Amino acid sequence: MFSMDTSSILDIKKLLSTSKKVVIVPHKNPDGDAMGSALGLCLYLKKKGHIATVIAPNDYPEFLKWLPGNDEVINYEMENSISENIISSADVIFTLDFNILHRCGEMETPIKNANAVKIMIDHHQEPDSYADYTYSDVNMCSTSQMVYHFIEKMEDLNYIDIAIGEALYTGIMTDTASFRFPLTTSITHKVIAQLIELGVQKSKIHDAIYDTNSFGRLQLLGCAMNNLQFLENYSTSYITLTKKELDYHGFKKGDTEGFVNYGLSLKGAKLAAIFIEHKQEGIIKISFRSKGDFDVNKFARNHFKGGGHKNASGGRSNLNLEDTISKFTNLLTEYELELNS
Ligand code: 5GP
Ligand code: MN
Repeated sequence: MFSMDTSSILDIKKLLSTSKKVVIVPHKNPDGDAMGSALGLCLYLKKKGHIATVIAPNDYPEFLKWLPGNDEVINYEMENSISENIISSADVIFTLDFNILHRCGEMETPIKNANAVKIMIDHHQEPDSYADYTYSDVNMCSTSQMVYHFIEKMEDLNYIDIAIGEALYTGIMTDTASFRFPLTTSITHKVIAQLIELGVQKSKIHDAIYDTNSFGRLQLLGCAMNNLQFLENYSTSYITLTKKELDYHGFKKGDTEGFVNYGLSLKGAKLAAIFIEHKQEGIIKISFRSKGDFDVNKFARNHFKGGGHKNASGGRSNLNLEDTISKFTNLLTEYELELNS
């Protein structure tokens, strides 16, 4: 079950047996799993006597800002030089919830140049080999569950308290869409059971993440559903959101999270996509979701400069929205057989 060899575990145990300066980095545009795993690990390391700091590549949604330890998170984009000092003087850098260093955006270079021992904990497909120690397991539902197993391997489960538990619970809950995606296993439920036994309140976390919708977000969801298209011949649904539509509904980071899943809930849909016109970066940000064997990690890698998991991935396009949709629908013809099998 644990995919790191014994000698690596012993090395890391030894490394962390004396107080270290540790930096923990989630991926850019951090989601619940990225922040939950980073904060869970950070709180644990602090409790162990390390000086640990989470540096996020950029801002993240409001609904994650109640997480324990959130107030001490540094935003690299906002505090560039402080971040770079902390990174260059770190003894250890953990990179969490991503498999390729450029997924942490502009932080790639300072991390690459840092002398710190690098440790990756991640569950995405085809991990790169930039880290000194790689704990990668593509069969894990979330990086947050992996952090739990990491603490277990350090023989420190007794360090997990409610705060750490809340952070890890959040990451597991969000990455499994509340314990229903295929990689949710009996072990996931055992980990969750342990966290609940510690005193983590599941309804409180659910409310904080899912029941804090703004009026604008719900209206944007309505707009997205109105724009939903179904290509029955390809068992594919897709949603578009233009910059104008986002502006009209007062779009804020995180507002479109989960929209793509509605497309996949359509009867007969095996592949779902959402195309979002991104103002700041001047790109179309794409999310893909699939059911069964259709591999959206490969699809995103091969055609849209992205990647992720077999059934959930993301990517981007530098074409305009209309041309991106044409590219997508034309591509589907290559996959017709696979999508209808
Ligand atoms: P989302 O659609 O929620 O943004 O991302 C779905 C999954 O794919 C997440 O696990 C995310 O980390 C991953 N992902 C999203 N965009 C990219 C990308 O551009 N490159 C890679 N390698 N993974 C991505
Ligand atoms: Mn994840």
